[in-house]
Amino acid sequence: MHRRHALALAGGGLAALTIRQAARAISAIAQPIEIQSPMALTQGGWLRARAMPGQVKLDGIGLPVADDGLFFTAFDRDAPPRMVLRYEPGDGGVPFELPLTIAPRAWAIEHVDTPLRPPSAGPDASFMARRKGELAQIKAARARETGAQGWRQAMVRPARGRFSGRFGSQRVYQGQPGAYHSGLDIAGAAGTPYVAPASGTVVLAATAPFTLEGHLLLLDHGMGLCSAFLHAAQLLVAEGDSVQQGQPLGLIGQTGRATGPHLHWSLTWRGSRLDPQLFLAPAG
Ligand SMILES: [Zn+2]
Repeated sequence: MHRRHALALAGGGLAALTIRQAARAISAIAQPIEIQSPMALTQGGWLRARAMPGQVKLDGIGLPVADDGLFFTAFDRDAPPRMVLRYEPGDGGVPFELPLTIAPRAWAIEHVDTPLRPPSAGPDASFMARRKGELAQIKAARARETGAQGWRQAMVRPARGRFSGRFGSQRVYQGQPGAYHSGLDIAGAAGTPYVAPASGTVVLAATAPFTLEGHLLLLDHGMGLCSAFLHAAQLLVAEGDSVQQGQPLGLIGQTGRATGPHLHWSLTWRGSRLDPQLFLAPAG
């Protein structure tokens, strides 16, 4: 519909233009980037859009674009209020810039009058050594490109239950900020299954529990979008498995550092931490 409108507008002046000039005039009117969803952008959020053939960049960083022109991008918990999507046609034509307004969020910040770490607690050498290996595995798994297509889907809730911890909440210890909560906690009964919120490929399945995450599962949804599920009692899938949206992935538990059985679900996109709740339909 947009394009027909653009043709009608450009058509009036065609007599005075060469074909090349007319093509440029048309592409300047038919927006080369069309945002599909969602229309409101916010910290911890995301967008899916369609681009005409060419290159797309977010604040100067190139984004992969699928063969059908669809692409995905997202905004970190601490993303700046303004970012720019830039489109560059392959033929050296006129680039197009789409300014994005990223709404700030009011994160739940709690000030507590205790130190961030007890002064006596030094780093535990055996923990640090183990942790280093775990972090390397997580980093390598997140960097894998599997070609999964789940990034195109509207996500479903991985588990029933109350949201017992929200994304982005943070404690400040005597003025010193601690790490913010990087996922969404769902308080499900121990032993109940959790499912894939979108299709993907399993890039890490910790059969031996990690120190903090326990039986960690990382699921690549493609385009750099990756889910993490923590604290499982048991995993039902293995590394390399292709899973469909809604397929059971594991059983809820409290392995790793957890005070009770729950599912911690987090979403990352190329180093940005995202709010899982923003991927679910409002009713979900
Ligand atoms: Zn959590």
